[in-house]
Amino acid sequence: MQEAEVFEHFRDSGALLEGHFELSSGLHSDRYFQCALVLSEPARAEVLAKDFASQVNVEVDCVVGPAMGAVVWSQEVGRALGKRALFTERKDDVMCLRRGFSFQPGERVLLVEDVLTTGGSAREVIEVLEAQGAKVVACGALLNRSGRNPFEELGLPLFEVVRTEVKTWEPKECPLCAAGGEAVKPGSRKGPGELA
Ligand SMILES: [Zn+2]
Repeated sequence: MQEAEVFEHFRDSGALLEGHFELSSGLHSDRYFQCALVLSEPARAEVLAKDFASQVNVEVDCVVGPAMGAVVWSQEVGRALGKRALFTERKDDVMCLRRGFSFQPGERVLLVEDVLTTGGSAREVIEVLEAQGAKVVACGALLNRSGRNPFEELGLPLFEVVRTEVKTWEPKECPLCAAGGEAVKPGSRKGPGELA
């Protein structure tokens, strides 16, 4: 899918806001993504997951994503691939596998995130899965904000629907502030947003 078409799904569902934002980190930005909104519409989620699934050219047995963000995305990708979909979650801040989820020895996992930034959570998930006997063979993201494949050094391919870079600035270096604008907090009524 062309980037413009992907962003149309994001914009039309309110998942991509453009303007002048103060993120929860205190940094300013001109764009803000909330992937949960685009995935809240089943028809859009289905189209995006099918596009993603069409790129997956390695054999996988199941799809796993870290909660909360990747639960819906994992499910949609699993449906598109015809594979089961699981999720890991944090308990007392430690990533773990719960709810009776388990793996056959050597089961091949496609690890997905909705928004990929540094890949830090995904690395924690890899440790958890491999300790359970699964083998992570590829990673994926709906939106890759890292600008690269952060799993390259692990030898894992990365599939993504769209790759984009979100510029952020310290308030005193923000060009939008310098132009006289005032930053707004996106999604603040609904709690912390997607960007940290
Ligand atoms: Zn600003």
